[in-house]
Amino acid sequence: MQITTEEIFEEFEQLDPRDQSQYLLELGYDLPRFPPEAKRDCDLVHGCQSQVWLTGSMAESGDDPVLTFQADSDAEIVRGLITILLASYSGLRASEILAFPITDVFDRLRLKQYISPQRHNGLQGMVDRIRTIAAESLAPSVAATVKTKVQDRATADHHSKPASTSIRPFDVDEVRRQFPVLNQILANGRPPVYLDSGASAQKPQVVIDKEREVEEQYFANAYRGRYSFGARIDDELEAARQKIADFIGASASEEVAFVPGATAALNMIAFGWSSGRLQPGDEILITPMEHHANFVPWQQVAHIHGAILKFIPLTEDGRLDLTSLDQLLTRRTKIVAVTGMSNVLGTVTPIRQLSDAAHAVGAVLVVDGAQSVPHMPTDVVADGIDFLAFSGHKVYGPTGIGVLYGRQSLLSEMQPMMFGGHMISRVYSDHSEWAPPPARFEAGTLPIVQAIALGTAIDWVQQYGLAAIHAHEQRLLELAATELQSIPNMTIYGPSTEHKGAIVSFRMSDIHPEDLAALFDLNNVFTRHGHHCTMPLHDLLGVSATTRASFAAYNTEAEVRILVDSIREARERLLRHSS
Ligand code: PLP
Repeated sequence: MQITTEEIFEEFEQLDPRDQSQYLLELGYDLPRFPPEAKRDCDLVHGCQSQVWLTGSMAESGDDPVLTFQADSDAEIVRGLITILLASYSGLRASEILAFPITDVFDRLRLKQYISPQRHNGLQGMVDRIRTIAAESLAPSVAATVKTKVQDRATADHHSKPASTSIRPFDVDEVRRQFPVLNQILANGRPPVYLDSGASAQKPQVVIDKEREVEEQYFANAYRGRYSFGARIDDELEAARQKIADFIGASASEEVAFVPGATAALNMIAFGWSSGRLQPGDEILITPMEHHANFVPWQQVAHIHGAILKFIPLTEDGRLDLTSLDQLLTRRTKIVAVTGMSNVLGTVTPIRQLSDAAHAVGAVLVVDGAQSVPHMPTDVVADGIDFLAFSGHKVYGPTGIGVLYGRQSLLSEMQPMMFGGHMISRVYSDHSEWAPPPARFEAGTLPIVQAIALGTAIDWVQQYGLAAIHAHEQRLLELAATELQSIPNMTIYGPSTEHKGAIVSFRMSDIHPEDLAALFDLNNVFTRHGHHCTMPLHDLLGVSATTRASFAAYNTEAEVRILVDSIREARERLLRHSS
């Protein structure tokens, strides 16, 4: 008699974690074995570390038949997993199999704690095979209605996710105390006035502590060993992935790949999505205010494929001019790639409007969230974002880690750009097959410590909520805009504060940004000057360089005043010498 899922649940709940993984092995010992002639290559499941043979047959025929499955593996632990799958699926109708929430079973058994993520990918491979067999056995008339129901369910599940809420009141002094780097006294007897978070944000103590905790207590490589350190690392990494998924409203953690940063993610999307898809004459639509990271890759891809790079124009005040969007988007537009927030003008782009327009012509929407994700809530589903890129170091996390988000169906169609260990499901001497996402986009050893600490950084942000952080930053922005306007010969670039995020870029006609930066440094005022990796935008603005002050949760109104006073002081000194 086949064991039922209820019996498995009952047994699992009575056991402690070590015995639970033993029980998984025992389940494997009890599964009937295939005779050698039944282990056919055509029944092998791809994506498994071990060999798995899986077949299905009809227990009762019809438009929506009842199915049973048989499977075997050369690894006992996988045979244990097969037992769970057979108990879950056998005896169901094909339509019931397609609608069955198998992840609920995995979650209830806390399988992610006992099996490595690579094995988890293998498990997903078996689920995919079972679902394919079920889908293929449905009559076409039934298949159409089943598909709609499954889609409705997925949407309902997404919308029933609890919204994250702020649990800790936002108090800038309390926030600031958590950043050791900001609480030191520098050579001139004053603390730093750090106004360059648009380049890299500082890290709160909890993030620094987390990096140290991993290094000191349980560091090991990821997705390799099942000894306790390795298992802990895998769990921490997957927990971080889930936090990131929740933070950006992704439907599943599998939609989040760890990559070195926004630049890496945007290159992977540009080259990976274009590969085999872009034809000569196809169009890519971007904006003139893109950071080079979301500009140069598309320029390269356009050159390689003979595609045309087009631009959404800017209004006089640096917003996107969408009046001609309908003409700009054509049936040849395959990709629309925009920044969520300009790293110079601060302009916030109307993502939902752009995604609706892009989708209407069958294009995908890529969002460079390097600046927007740290400053305003992102919901990839509600915003209709197909691909999103951002960097950990701008969201209070470490350097060397970033995120490539892609809608599940798109990621599983996208070509990887980095090849090697971990990203494969099977390597033959003449070709290879890829692991399912996200592993497909995570070749080699990950920046493990940084990825885990990024999860802590996200927790840190979530405890206040981005809405509270955003409101604080907007107050600083308004103060800065008002005060800067009172300085002679001053141009502030970009739109009014209601259309922008925590960035203010400016230039005075009589003072070069480079000179200003040198004098700022004497007051420990750390801003950035130059073209900020946006040469085409600076060409449009007609200047080679601007000064940029960018704000984060820890900045204060007092610091904005120091910035403004430092500009006045610098003017006095520089103009005294030049007159
Ligand atoms: N996109 C924008 C808008 C940015 O501001 C930056 C960095 O400043 C990037 C992309 C690139 O980020 P990273 O250097 O972390 O890859």
